[in-house]
Amino acid sequence: MSFSAFDGTRRIPPAINEPIRAYAPGSPEKKSLKARLASMASEQPEIPVVVGGKHIHTGDMGEATMPCVHSHVLAKYHKARVEDVSAAIAAAESAQRDWANTRWEDRAAVFLRAAELLATTHRDTLNAATMLGQSKTVFQSEIDAACEMIDFWRFNVQFAQDLYAEQPISNATMWNQLDYRPLEGFVYAVTPFNFTAIGGNLPTAPALMGNTVLWKPAASAMLSAWYTMQLLEAAGLPPGVINFLPGDPVMISERALTDPALAGVHFTGSTGVFNGMWDTIGRNMGRYRGYPRIVGETGGKDFILAHASADPQVVAVAMVRGAFEYQGQKCSAASRAYIPRSLWPEVRDRCVAMMADMRMGDVRDFRNFTGAVIDEKAFNRNAKYLAMAKDSAKVLAGGGTDRSTGWFVENTLVEATDPSHTLMCEEIFGPILTCHVYDDAKWDETLKLVDTTSPYALTGAILAQDRSALHHAATVLRQAAGNLYLNDKCTGAVVGQQPFGGARASGTNDKAGSKLNLVRWVSARNIKETFSPPTDWRYPFLGEE
Ligand code: NAD
Repeated sequence: MSFSAFDGTRRIPPAINEPIRAYAPGSPEKKSLKARLASMASEQPEIPVVVGGKHIHTGDMGEATMPCVHSHVLAKYHKARVEDVSAAIAAAESAQRDWANTRWEDRAAVFLRAAELLATTHRDTLNAATMLGQSKTVFQSEIDAACEMIDFWRFNVQFAQDLYAEQPISNATMWNQLDYRPLEGFVYAVTPFNFTAIGGNLPTAPALMGNTVLWKPAASAMLSAWYTMQLLEAAGLPPGVINFLPGDPVMISERALTDPALAGVHFTGSTGVFNGMWDTIGRNMGRYRGYPRIVGETGGKDFILAHASADPQVVAVAMVRGAFEYQGQKCSAASRAYIPRSLWPEVRDRCVAMMADMRMGDVRDFRNFTGAVIDEKAFNRNAKYLAMAKDSAKVLAGGGTDRSTGWFVENTLVEATDPSHTLMCEEIFGPILTCHVYDDAKWDETLKLVDTTSPYALTGAILAQDRSALHHAATVLRQAAGNLYLNDKCTGAVVGQQPFGGARASGTNDKAGSKLNLVRWVSARNIKETFSPPTDWRYPFLGEE
C-alpha cells in the first residue's frame, strides 16, 4: 500500500448504529432480498483457500448445505492443507510490516468502506447467505449479518481512535508518547457458525489495529464467511492481511497454534474447544517469540429470573423470545428460568399460548418465527436432551423433531422440579427452555441457586417491578453474568450499547464491540523524548552546606 503525504488530525466519521430494515410485506427491501435468496439457491460457488491474496484450489472438498433442506448443497469449499497453513503464516508475516506501517486512518478506511458496501450493495447477499446457510429468519439475519457486522466495523474504528488518543502526561521538558504497536507475529482467528458478524469481527478487529491474521471459519457458516472475505477484498484489504483457511479445525489449529510467530488467538465457540486451544498453547510455551494474547468468548447457560413482583406478560415474552429466537442457538439464549410459584400458572400458560402461534419452517417463508438447527450433530444433541426431558422432567409444550427435509426441532418448554437437573445445568444450544418453580419465600435461596448451578457466566435477566428486589438480585449475582439485563430478555446485545462477553467458563470477557477488545490486539511502546537533557551527573542533594 502506498499513500500520499497528509498532515492534519483526521476525524473519523461518527459511528451510528445501522438502522434495522423491516422487510414488511410489499417493501422494496423484501422484494430485493427474496430475489437474491432465489438466485443464491440456484448457485453453487466453489470456495477457495485464500493465502496472500491468491485463491488456492486444493481439490480436497467439503460441502456447505442448507439446514432447512439438508439435501441442498449451497457451496463446495476447498480444504486447506498443512502446507497452505504454513504458506498463510508466511504471507501474514510478510504483509505485516507494510500493514503495520500504514497510517491507522488508512487501515480504518478499508473497514469503513466494507461497512458501507455491506449497508448497500452487499446487504442482500450477506443476508441471503446467512438465511440459507445458517437458517436464520430474515430478522435474525438482518440484525446479525447486516447491522451487527456494519456496527462492528464502524464502531471499532471509533474505539481505535479513542484508544490511540489515550496518551501519557508530558511537559515543557519532555514529550511522552504511547505507540500502540500491533502484536509481533500473526493472530489466529477461529469463528463460530452462529453469527456472521462474529465471523467478520474476529479477524478484522486485530487487523484494524495493524495485525495480520489467519482466519479459520466454521464449516457450517462457510457461505457467509466466504462472502464476507470477498467483501473485504472488494473494500481494498491488501493481500496477506487476512488469510482465509477453510478446513479441518484440528489440523489447522495444531499447525497455527504451535508456530513461534503466534501472537494472539481470537476465538468464539464452545468452552471445550477453547480449553483445548489454551492447553496446546500452554504445552508449547517455550516456542513463542512473545506471550500470545488469548481471547475467547465461549459457552453459556443463560438465566431468566423472575421476582414475585414481575409482570407475567413481560416475563413470558422475555422467555419465549430469549429462548427460541434463532432456535436457541445464541450463546446468550435463555436456557433456564426461575419463576415464583405465585406467577407460574400465568407465566406458563402465556408462554404455551405464544408458542402455539410461533411457526417453524423454511426461513425463506417470512411467516416462520424459527428455522432448523444448524446440522445433524445439533439435531441429535437436541433430540438427546428432549428424550431426557420426557424421561425425568415435564414437557409443557413442543418436544417434537422432524429430520425428513431439514433439521427441525420444536420450541420446547420444560418444567424441572429438581433445580440441579441436567437440563438446568448444561449448555444445550437449541430451542429448549427449562423452568424451575420456586417458593416465593425462597428468593434468597433462589439467588444462590442461579449463581451456583452452572459453570458459565455469560448472560442473565432479572425481572421485577420491585426496585429493591432488582437491586438486591443484581448485587448478589454480580459475578453470574457478563451481560445482565433488567426487565428485558437476555439476548440481543448491540455494538456500542451493550459490550458483550462473560466470565467464568464463558470466556475471557474481552467485550467484543468495545475498546476493551481492541486493547488486546496492541502492545504499547512508550517513547520519552527529553528536550533539555541533563549535562551534569550530580544531583543537588549531593551538596553539603
Ligand atoms: P465450536 O466450538 O464447535 O466451533 C467454533 C470454531 O472452533 C469453529 O470454527 C470450529 O471449526 C472450530 N473448532 C472445532 N473443533 C476444534 C478443535 N478441536 N480445535 C480448534 N478449533 C476447533 O462452536 P460452534 O458450534 O461453532 O458455536 C457454538 C458455541 O459457541 C456455543 O458454545 C456458544 O455458546 C459459543 N458462542 C459464544 C459466544 C460468546 O460471545 N460467548 C458467541 C457465539 C457463540
